[in-house]
Amino acid sequence: MNTSILKIKQHKRDLLENHIKGSLNQYSSLFGCDSDAIYVMDLDGFFLPLNPACERIFGYDPQRFSKLTYMKVVTVEHLDRALSFFYKALEGKLQNFDCQVIHQNGAIIDVNITNYPIVVDEEIIGVYGIAKNITEIKQRRRRLTEEIQQREEVYREIVEHSPDAVVIAKHEQILFANNTALHLVGGKEKSEIIGRNIYDFLLSDYKKIIKERVKLVETGKIVDFIEIQLVRLDGEIMDVEIKAIPAIYQNEPARHIIIRDITEKKRTQKMLLQSEKLTVAGQLAAGIAHEIRNPLTAIKGFLQLMESDKNVKSTYIDIINSEMNRIEQILSELLLLSKPQGQKIKETSIIKILQNVKALIDAQAILNNTNVTISCTTKIPHLVCDENQLKQVFINLLKNSIEAMPDGGTINIEVDKYNENSVMITVSDQGSGIANEHLDHVGQPFFTTKENGTGLGLMISMQIIKNHNGTFHISSSPNGTIIEITLPL
Ligand code: ADP
Ligand code: MG
Repeated sequence: MNTSILKIKQHKRDLLENHIKGSLNQYSSLFGCDSDAIYVMDLDGFFLPLNPACERIFGYDPQRFSKLTYMKVVTVEHLDRALSFFYKALEGKLQNFDCQVIHQNGAIIDVNITNYPIVVDEEIIGVYGIAKNITEIKQRRRRLTEEIQQREEVYREIVEHSPDAVVIAKHEQILFANNTALHLVGGKEKSEIIGRNIYDFLLSDYKKIIKERVKLVETGKIVDFIEIQLVRLDGEIMDVEIKAIPAIYQNEPARHIIIRDITEKKRTQKMLLQSEKLTVAGQLAAGIAHEIRNPLTAIKGFLQLMESDKNVKSTYIDIINSEMNRIEQILSELLLLSKPQGQKIKETSIIKILQNVKALIDAQAILNNTNVTISCTTKIPHLVCDENQLKQVFINLLKNSIEAMPDGGTINIEVDKYNENSVMITVSDQGSGIANEHLDHVGQPFFTTKENGTGLGLMISMQIIKNHNGTFHISSSPNGTIIEITLPL
């Protein structure tokens, strides 16, 4: 090596030793109590121990320690890093890093090292070192990681063998899916779903509601089952119900999502609904036939009058027109009721729905000496609903009320705002009421006290209201029955 460089090095080494003997000496008792190894390093990286902790951590007495550098004490795997941190410190920057060193007795020790430059008269003459023994902390951390991994393994096993389809997702990404989930969407390899976006598998109509639920679960709340539609890998749409629970996956917050196939349930519901609709249509038919006969008789009479009278009176035509309209209205409601209907959600006036239902049911009501009134005191905004399904609900309720009043009476339908966001519809009759012991059973499928009853009317009505996110409440006394329904506006 060039002699002048050697001279500079020696000069700096002298400065360093003076610095230790001089300025640093006053701290020696302070260093002495420290459990961390405190040392300095010269420009070539040779150690100069400053406290007894150096011997405890590295295992070498001060004399032997001062003949060593990181080259000797740092493990091979960490050496490159340790040296690069040392050189960076020599360039004037504070460094902090974790690495492993080999104790003189061969033991591997985890240390956290801080290196920073020693500056004297604006010249860097060496590096300070503080090495903290973090073996225990590291071991504890390792044990914890192992434990977490084991727990995750158990969790994975449970999920993998769950009969429900389970998907674990973080934000929008699917991190894990069990075999049931894979089959549900019609996949063969997990790679077809893992890593993909959850919204790839959702009908876009549900995106908004799912987004809101994701937000809730991400703040630690559990959200209960809702019915939605999935898009399978082959593009087919499928009815499912899903629920999500906050979970931890790979050490990070995630969502545990349970998915159940409800295709079969939906199909049965549809069939029940249709058979009940046909039954109701059949039961109403007698009353309607009667109701239609009256206007037809009137029309016939007027037509005969008109035949004999050359100057047709416009009042006759008006009467015929209005009677024809009534027939048309009743028949179209009846047809609507018996036709199978797909879901049709749109904005509709609840009053209009009730008036249409009244038109259809009035035939039977009049036969039974029953009067149906609709009252509404405030202006009610339109509802977003399936009009035909709601009609079905009120037909069922009015039929029940008529049947509960064999001697006739009045059925009052009141519409009012329940609160800012919902409307309440109350249907009350003066019938015999529901016996206390039956109150728990009404609404269960096939529960009926009537000879020709189906026991499906209330069940289907409750189902429809539930699907509209509304509430359904029955109260009854020997003086009559009151049904209260709320529906969101
Ligand atoms: P169904 O009318 O075919 O019997 P529902 O589900 O409509 O089936 O009603 C179930 C039962 O609930 C009826 O059989 C009746 O006992 C009772 N119920 C329902 N509504 C009323 C009512 N308004 N007044 C008295 N009983 C009622
Ligand atoms: Mg009924």
